[in-house]
Amino acid sequence: MSKAKVNQEVCIGCGTCEALCPNVFKLKDGKAQVVAEECGDCNCQEVVESCPVGAITIEK
Ligand code: SF4
Repeated sequence: MSKAKVNQEVCIGCGTCEALCPNVFKLKDGKAQVVAEECGDCNCQEVVESCPVGAITIEK
């Protein structure tokens, strides 16, 4: 299991991560929040690569 993190300073609130992985990412006040600690079911590496500003990191 890995842990996703969003850098709030960098996130522009585009919604891509929420669209790809709504279990883990939710937009709130124009920024993506990590709402589930565990990133298990999906391949979040894809979400990391899809973020246009590189705000997402996954801790292994
Ligand atoms: S994909 Fe990146 S910039 Fe877009 S909402 Fe998610 S963390 Fe923010």
